[in-house]
Amino acid sequence: MTNIKITKMNEKIYLIEEMDYLEHSNCYLIVGSKKCLLIDTGVGLIDFNEIKNRFVKDKELVVVITHFHFDHFAGSDQFDMALANKNNLKNKDVGLKYFKKKDFKNNAFEKISHKEFNINENKFKQIKNESIINLGDFNFEIIFTPGHDESSISLFENEKKILFSGDTIYDGKMYLDFEDSNNKEYISSLKKILYKKPTIILGGHNAPITKNISEFITSKIDLAKEN
Ligand SMILES: [Zn+2]
Repeated sequence: MTNIKITKMNEKIYLIEEMDYLEHSNCYLIVGSKKCLLIDTGVGLIDFNEIKNRFVKDKELVVVITHFHFDHFAGSDQFDMALANKNNLKNKDVGLKYFKKKDFKNNAFEKISHKEFNINENKFKQIKNESIINLGDFNFEIIFTPGHDESSISLFENEKKILFSGDTIYDGKMYLDFEDSNNKEYISSLKKILYKKPTIILGGHNAPITKNISEFITSKIDLAKEN
């Protein structure tokens, strides 16, 4: 695979990034004892067959999309089905104003610019708030965390205290300027996350958050309140 970076975060969790896309989002693969879980699929530059052959092998692979922005869901067309929050997908703002931004273009832009990033609704199955995805040694609770956009969800491992947060929270500027962004909902989503007391946050962009997490979440709540 050309220009895909795979980082082993621990024995079970891999970070997969599309280095040809400047604002590359974080896709995560969790290799559970019984099943594997892929969280997000990038802009569509990853060959997921190769990922399956290398890491998933004969296990079942569950695919979940944290939200319907182009840099998180577009690679899903390689799968028969992915789980996601499909609320109000009609005329969904998939975040293309940032795809078109000059700063984010680079050499590989042409490779993906032909994509229209349409959501094929039939490919996605509605995920339920507070449902559990059981991988054997990991149990992920689905938490609806709207605000960044309406479809945003997070996944929380209640025993291991690991949070996968998509674009709801990560170490960097948060974006609340999409057509379906909602500041009030965003604040209550962050409060939900704060209440869970994660010890690590693996977000949709940038490096994991491992220190002073409650202070970090609180600072993002304060920032959102100022908006
Ligand atoms: Zn996003």
